[in-house]
Amino acid sequence: MNDKVKRNRPTDETADTTPIVRMERVNKHFGELHVMRDIDLSVAPGEVVVIIGASGSGKSTLIRCVNGLEPFQSGRIEVDGNTLSPNGASGKSLQAVRTEVGMVFQQFNLFPHLSIRDNVTLAPRKVRGWTRQQADDTARRLLERVGIIDQADKFPGQLSGGQQQRVALARALAMEPRLMLFDEPTSALDPEMIGEVLDAMRELANDGMTMMIVTHEMGFAREVADRVVFVHNGQIVEQGPPAALFDTPQHDRTQAFLSRVL
Ligand code: ADP
Ligand code: MG
Repeated sequence: MNDKVKRNRPTDETADTTPIVRMERVNKHFGELHVMRDIDLSVAPGEVVVIIGASGSGKSTLIRCVNGLEPFQSGRIEVDGNTLSPNGASGKSLQAVRTEVGMVFQQFNLFPHLSIRDNVTLAPRKVRGWTRQQADDTARRLLERVGIIDQADKFPGQLSGGQQQRVALARALAMEPRLMLFDEPTSALDPEMIGEVLDAMRELANDGMTMMIVTHEMGFAREVADRVVFVHNGQIVEQGPPAALFDTPQHDRTQAFLSRVL
């Protein structure tokens, strides 16, 4: 809990507390399947929200909607002042959202033919127009931050899964995102590599990054989340501070889920 006290986040009354993410009555269908049901969810600047729920409950779909990877059919999603509209009618704001939101997936999705350094610098050079020098300086700083500066000249295939995932994190951070999304970032890792990725995420949270994280790592959620959101069957069933949600869940569904995973 001490981590949260130290966290560098806007808490005084002059800070801007306008939500970075505002989802209002969002509904999404895959054909007949209603996978998001009236989702209302706001995330404040610097807040760390962990989303939990059974497989197939709609967690990935929810966060993929936030950076415009999935269209939705009704409601609205606002990300740092850019509005995503239903049915893909978002125009320019979709591009704005994609450049402002970083995402780390279960699969690392690094470019196999590019060095670690170039994996990190490609997007800022192409999208932000940074010079090589600017991008390389940023890559050095970020690779140091995630503890793999010594691997900068290697290729993804030469790194362990935990190292590759930390590169994926550095690559997302290189775009200077306002919000970071994580979809089960440690689920594809060997157990001994989970800790190093969670450590990097914890550090990012302590630095004040706004984060939405789907994970099955309940210990991590308890420690790092400001709020835990339990999703069942496309609905937010219950949410609250981790201690309350984990220790005294109010809803039967939450109790049943936690009794299986804790
Ligand atoms: P979770 O991440 O919680 O496991 P998902 O968001 O991946 O859940 O999936 C929610 C539901 O939507 C599941 O029933 C899944 O099978 C379905 N689904 C996900 N993606 C697609 C898709 N592209 N087409 C059709 N159904 C999908
Ligand atoms: Mg998923």
